This record gives sequence, C-alpha cells and structure tokens, in this order.
Amino acid sequence: MTEWIEETLHRNLRMKLKVDRVLYDAQSAEQRVQIIENGTLGRVLYLDGVLQTCERDEFIYHEMLTHLPILAHGRVQDLLIIGGGDGGMLEEALKHRALGHVTMVEIDPSVVAMSKAYLPSICGEAFADPRLDLVFADGFAFVRETERRYDVAIVDSTDPIGPGEALFTQEFYAACKRCLRPGGILVTQNGVPFMQPDELRNTVRVLRPLFADVHCYLAAVPGYVGGPMAFGWASDDPALRRVPQDALQRRFAAADIATRYYNPEVHPAAFCLPGYVAELLT
Ligand code: SAM
Repeated sequence: MTEWIEETLHRNLRMKLKVDRVLYDAQSAEQRVQIIENGTLGRVLYLDGVLQTCERDEFIYHEMLTHLPILAHGRVQDLLIIGGGDGGMLEEALKHRALGHVTMVEIDPSVVAMSKAYLPSICGEAFADPRLDLVFADGFAFVRETERRYDVAIVDSTDPIGPGEALFTQEFYAACKRCLRPGGILVTQNGVPFMQPDELRNTVRVLRPLFADVHCYLAAVPGYVGGPMAFGWASDDPALRRVPQDALQRRFAAADIATRYYNPEVHPAAFCLPGYVAELLT
C-alpha cells in the first residue's frame, strides 16, 4: 500500500506527501527526525512531523537567506548561523570565498549526521570546510554567552514550537544583537505570513525596540505551502536595505556564484511587500 506522510501545517490545514522511500526515521534527544523520498520534492527532511527542507526547492530558501544579507553587507568576515542542521544554509554561505569564518550553532547533532548521510545534495561538503566552527548547543544560550562578534547572523530555525520556540523571543533577538558588530545584519526564517501572520507580526514587534531598521522580504518556496515565505530583516543602518543596484551588481559579479533564485534584481524586489504582508509590519 502506498504510504503518505501527513503534516498538520495549521489548525485547519494538513498536507500529505507520497512516501516513495523512508531513508531515516528516529527520535533524537530533541525531536523526531525523518528523511523520506518524494517523487516531486526529492528527499525531504521532517522534524517533529514538520517539513524542514526539500532537495528540489532548498536552493530558493538558502540563496535568499545567505546571498541577500551577505551582499547587502558587502564585507562579511564572520557569519553566525543559528540552527541550519541540514547544512544547506552553510553550503550556500561558504560559496563566498571572502567569508573568513562561520559559526553554526545547531541543537541536534543527529540532524547534521543524517543530513551528511542522506542529504548530500543539500549540504555537500560544507561540514568539512575549514572555515566552519560547528557548535552543538542551544542557539539562545550561545548568543547569550559568546564573546565572538559577527557581521551577519542568520536564524535558520524550526518554527516557534519545541526547541525552536526560544528563537522567536525578544530576549533571543537582543542577544543576537549583542553578537553583531556595528553595521551588522540579522535575518530570520519567519514562516508563511498568509498562513501564520502572528509569527511575522510578533517578530517585527519584538525586533522594533532593538534595531533601527526592521522589515521583511519574501520568496515563494514551494515546500512551504500557502504563499510566499517571510524572512525577517533587522539592522541599525537603513541604507543596508537600500544598497544601490550598481553596488549589488559589482558585489554579485565579484562573488562569482552560480545561483538559481537570488540575483541583484530579485534582491530589492524581495523587499516589496503586498498589502496583506505590509500590514503585519505596522
Ligand atoms: N528551513 C527550515 C524552516 O524554514 O523551518 C529550517 C531548517 S533547519 C533543519 C532548522 C534547524 O533548527 C533544525 O536542525 C533544528 O534542530 C534547529 N534548532 C531548533 N531549535 C534550535 C535551537 N534552540 N538552537 C539551535 N538549533 C535549533
């Protein structure tokens, strides 16, 4: 009998994916980790029954959460990734040869181990990169205590349930700010606003007192059904969100990275919000 994996996305919405093969399914100390194969989305990672990333569309999400803030900043030497256990964010960020160091703080070692074993098309050889310092810890505890400083911080967490819940609080964002150098940028995974408007509304509300410029940008990621996904943006320099097109073109050309979603034209356009999203920011 054909097997289907069902995800309860929201109170009144469920989504099922046909399971061609179960590659891994076990309970870690933190969460249930499943990796299955689906004919449309390729290999798919679920954590506690929530879809995290898919082989076929992960490039959209990872390109937009790495190249956009890194190229907006223009001189990223030190990058912080909170979460990101599948390695896709790390793999994309490391394509920037000028990037000197990445600290990745992941709470669940088994996600990294299983991604290396079953999702090589997503993580590649990123975990072997000498620029990486991989820390297995709670991201909130890390940003509260570290003495290290970063130019960009990417919060690539699960949704605000279970271990990811702490990563959507004002205390966490304040601790992230503490870790950013002047001119630093914080970007966050902030769900699908059509389906979960409160997630974005809450993040913007608690970020506003901490940063001079708080906004969000969008990209449609097929695996995250319900419309475009929102990425939170926070910095103390509004000019970072309005980098002139010629500067973006120069930086993108110098980075010499092949992308399939991000480009210097998509960059500013991603910040243009439809009314139903813009109203969540007011
Ligand atoms: N792209 C996915 C999304 O949009 O939901 C997120 C991908 S990634 C798999 C999410 C990662 O966050 C997981 O590996 C999970 O273990 C990690 N995570 C959750 N809570 C965490 C915490 N408090 N500290 C560090 N990592 C955490």
